[in-house]
Amino acid sequence: MEYLFSQWDKLKYSLNSRYLFLFLDYDGTLSPIASAPHKAVISKVEKNLLKRISQKPDCKVAIISGRSLADIKKRVGIKGIIYSGNHGLEVESPKIKHKPQVSEAHRKLLRKIKNELEFKLKKVHGAIIEDKGLSLAVHFREAGKQDANLIKTAFREVTILPSVAKKIKIRAGKKVLEAGLPVEWGKGTIVLWLLSRQKFATDGKEVAAIYIGDDVTDEDAFEALRKDGITVFVGEKKPSYAKYFLKDSKEVYKFLNLILAL
Ligand SMILES: [Mg+2]
Repeated sequence: MEYLFSQWDKLKYSLNSRYLFLFLDYDGTLSPIASAPHKAVISKVEKNLLKRISQKPDCKVAIISGRSLADIKKRVGIKGIIYSGNHGLEVESPKIKHKPQVSEAHRKLLRKIKNELEFKLKKVHGAIIEDKGLSLAVHFREAGKQDANLIKTAFREVTILPSVAKKIKIRAGKKVLEAGLPVEWGKGTIVLWLLSRQKFATDGKEVAAIYIGDDVTDEDAFEALRKDGITVFVGEKKPSYAKYFLKDSKEVYKFLNLILAL
């Protein structure tokens, strides 16, 4: 992994004359990691920057988040861009609208998991249970080490039963555990799908994909774009499928300003 800014001069030229498709994760990428999910916000100036990039000719912006689609749309609040929630399962743009059909059985199962977790975690400090429609998340950023362990254990106890485990997919992110639809569909799949649509629409013009993210779930996208994407991990350098890294969300905006100036 190389520091993105040390390679920018070279990269910049490779982007000339190509259509630019910018994929951005939200938490930990556009917003610094917050102590609780509802505290992760971005400023007006930052929103405006995203908007201006999305209005550039030959440029498209997609926000790819683990949050629910409704949540991420509200949080970013820009019109005319692509939003994908629940790690790619839901997607919406002026031209696309997709939400998978979910069986009543799945909803019932998530409700059951939620009830059991609420019961088990009643007296545990720092657990936030979030219903994301298609999935259920338990955040424990505000929990101390001992409470975090209790939360992880409770989640495991509830989801490990064979009758449950077969019917859900478990995802672990930064201080969060999730139970979702048991399908092989993630951030990598949605990115490739959006890209192939774009390549078709751009009719011959080369499309450059830039993906920026900070978490385990973003590795799916880094891997999917391994061949010719510009993949950027946000955080301390570590083993990753990403080719480049930036240190924090401040640097992400510094980079986005360079994109705007292209
Ligand atoms: Mg993230």
